[in-house]
Amino acid sequence: MASAADIPVGLGAAEHGLSIDVEDYRQILSARYRGEAGPVTTTFERNMETVCAMLAEARTKATFFVSGLVAAARPDLVRRWADLGHEIASHGLTHEPIWTMTPERFRQELSQAKRTLEDAAGRAVAGYRAPVFSVRRDTLWALEAIREAGFAYDSSIVPVRMRRYGVAGFGDRPQAWILRSGDRIIEVPLTTVRACGMRVPLGGGYLRLVSHRVIRRAVASAEAGGRAIVVFAHPDEFGTEPFQAVDLATGWRDKAAAAAVALKSNLGRRRIPVTIRWMLGVFRFSILGRIAEGASTPKAQGPPP
Ligand SMILES: [Zn+2]
Repeated sequence: MASAADIPVGLGAAEHGLSIDVEDYRQILSARYRGEAGPVTTTFERNMETVCAMLAEARTKATFFVSGLVAAARPDLVRRWADLGHEIASHGLTHEPIWTMTPERFRQELSQAKRTLEDAAGRAVAGYRAPVFSVRRDTLWALEAIREAGFAYDSSIVPVRMRRYGVAGFGDRPQAWILRSGDRIIEVPLTTVRACGMRVPLGGGYLRLVSHRVIRRAVASAEAGGRAIVVFAHPDEFGTEPFQAVDLATGWRDKAAAAAVALKSNLGRRRIPVTIRWMLGVFRFSILGRIAEGASTPKAQGPPP
């Protein structure tokens, strides 16, 4: 039997997509529990320094999907990341999933998020990723709104059904979709892999479940099919501090929920940056904007299946 090391991938032939969902979870949870996001934490800032240093060392540019809360609090950081050559894209305004919003509120958040980010970055923003990958079957209308707001591509669809999100059967190839308006938007879906008996997106906390062998296989299959893999991570996954949010919650119910999330998040957490660094050393990565540019031309009419 061939070992994982024999699988001929990562020879520099293909360029894959690396995305960082640039959010400070303490800001998000502070907004949720206390009604105010407040400043970004020094921990977040330090973790982003680690991310930027790691990318510089690997001579890699990535797409930073920046939360509107971060962009509003620290436009100077956004400008710095843009000046380093990373692609600045939007991760929405408040980090609430689309399914909690009316189309009207979603449209307002989209345009505000884009404006804030473009002012901070000093350049146009083409990409969008919904908080909690919340473009799913019942929120596909959001793709119209994302295009109307002026985004050229979206990267919010996990092409497998998860508990809260995902569009099963969407496929993992970037493609252009003709919208009802007649306009088109490029969708750059997340890559999924099989791990622990289920299919999971390749990134974030799921990287704790995925072996390097499985990742090599996924890359081999993508490269054979002329596709790029699309990986995601969060800044706090590169830090040394454990995930901690119980102090932000006020009621016992929120405290219990925050404690449960912390417990789940901290389990095997150190594996995540190890795997990302390994991937950066073995495969070639670049920004999602380039993958969107190379997406296949539309073959289907109407919204995705
Ligand atoms: Zn997020």
